[in-house]
Amino acid sequence: MPSDPADLHVWSLPLRTRFRGLTVRDGVLVRGAAGWGEFSPFWDYDAEESAAWWRAAWEAADDGWPAPVRNRIPVNVTVPAVDAETAHRIVRASGGCRTAKVKVAEPGQSLADEVARLEAVRDALGPDGAIRVDANAAWDVDTAVSRLVALDRAAGGLEYAEQPVPGVDDLAALRRRTHVPIAADESIRRAQDPLAVARAQAADVVVLKVQPLGGVRACLELAERIGLPVVVSSALESSVGLAAGVALAAALPELPYACGLATAQLFTSDLVDRPFLPVDGMLEVRRTEPDPALLAGAAASPELTDRWRARVAAVRARA
Ligand SMILES: [Mg+2]
Repeated sequence: MPSDPADLHVWSLPLRTRFRGLTVRDGVLVRGAAGWGEFSPFWDYDAEESAAWWRAAWEAADDGWPAPVRNRIPVNVTVPAVDAETAHRIVRASGGCRTAKVKVAEPGQSLADEVARLEAVRDALGPDGAIRVDANAAWDVDTAVSRLVALDRAAGGLEYAEQPVPGVDDLAALRRRTHVPIAADESIRRAQDPLAVARAQAADVVVLKVQPLGGVRACLELAERIGLPVVVSSALESSVGLAAGVALAAALPELPYACGLATAQLFTSDLVDRPFLPVDGMLEVRRTEPDPALLAGAAASPELTDRWRARVAAVRARA
């Protein structure tokens, strides 16, 4: 594992719509014998939590990934907490995605906003599309029980609800009180013990993200130990980072759900000349590398570059 700070390629890319409170996404690319890797922990992750993200970047750069067992990955379109008209347009422009993940529980928005968004998404997808919601752990159990009744009705049936409540105990309690299947996300990737979800029968599905869980191989091992269906999702990476998620989705023995890997659609530009954008709702399994001109065009300011170098130094000091 290198490297000279000069070999860290710090980038910054604008997002189309505010997402996860962000209007810009930034990170670092590293290069090794096997190719390029991405290190892009969100800024609320400290050096300890970011260590897994660093391992994932260097797995990509130094070792590459296990062999794929499929060459196309079904993906969902992600609908941020936007108005109904925008939600409709996003689904229609999604490159044929047959599954939509809709963000809910946005601060300042009402149930009526969410109902309108879900109705618009159902209208855009048609009756045979699948709709899931993601509340990012924002509700308590009682709120989640009643919200899911209303949102399930508005969506014409929910495929699942992703992390409606925080914590494994709350997920398990909610799961006993709703017929909507439950997916665990934060309870896996930010948990001390990612197997607790399975032990507590707290979820029907688990969401795995390569960077926060330390790489493709670490995720494959975790998936085997958890023993529940897996949805691979991105951490809002550039297409260089998305390639790792695609590699995980391609290597899993079974892939019963569409994956959350179409998030290049949330960016106005990318670092590669062929971003991971869906065709007929699918991503092609392939490696990718940055286009030098696009990487140069996305170069971060000197201040941001210094912040990332300090971050990398802090993570490396712990390794
Ligand atoms: Mg989530």
